[in-house]
Amino acid sequence: MRIDVLTLFPKMFDGFLSESILGKAIDNNLVEIKIINYREFSKSKHKKVDDSPYGGGPGMVLCVEPVYDALMSIKGQEKALKILVTPQGKTFHQEKAYELRDKEHIIILCGHYEGYDERIRDLFDLEVSIGDYVLTGGEIAAMALIDSITRLIPKVINKDESHIFDSFNDYLLEHPHYTRPSEFRGKKVPDVLISGNHKLIKEWRENESIKRTKERRIDLYNKYREEHGDE
Ligand code: SAM
Repeated sequence: MRIDVLTLFPKMFDGFLSESILGKAIDNNLVEIKIINYREFSKSKHKKVDDSPYGGGPGMVLCVEPVYDALMSIKGQEKALKILVTPQGKTFHQEKAYELRDKEHIIILCGHYEGYDERIRDLFDLEVSIGDYVLTGGEIAAMALIDSITRLIPKVINKDESHIFDSFNDYLLEHPHYTRPSEFRGKKVPDVLISGNHKLIKEWRENESIKRTKERRIDLYNKYREEHGDE
């Protein structure tokens, strides 16, 4: 998979791309990520990429031309899925991460300023938000997308593909976890987890997962029930 990111703040990606699972995925050629500073495509003397809004009002607007030129400079862009990150987009979720994991080439535009010139929107296939809050720029949103998509690529995490058991698969949140010590300040690990009985452990985990989802995310729990009935 290849991901191109259009940003005004390329340095924000330095640590993100070199550390941990993502760093290893890049080293192992499981994903190729290129960061492009679209300021370099500005034709103005001072490399300006924003301007005041027609009709007046506060804040600056991101210009369409440098974004268009940066986009056109990307090899194979015509076939890539082009994503604009914006609080006005559809909220991102795990199912979408799986869908995007199967794309060969993705381009993500990180915005800045008050807003996009509306004609930028026409250049993109998809508008994605990472939640109902407003960030200063799109870089953190792009990183959230890249991280969640990349960890789903086969061989990125590890042989046993532990993401299959993560939260949101089959609409459920993951069950609780415990590790040593077996008792901490009077709080004990549930007996079943140290029983060695794999059937009972599996049942306990499934029940806890359902219980936790019902308590914390009734919306997901209702979807799970729709899918599975009252088994
Ligand atoms: N005035 C804009 C609005 O109300 O929709 C918000 C602009 S925000 C300050 C600047 C940039 O940050 C956006 O263009 C977008 O790229 C990014 N951004 C902010 N919040 C986001 C979110 N929840 N999801 C994705 N991107 C976001």
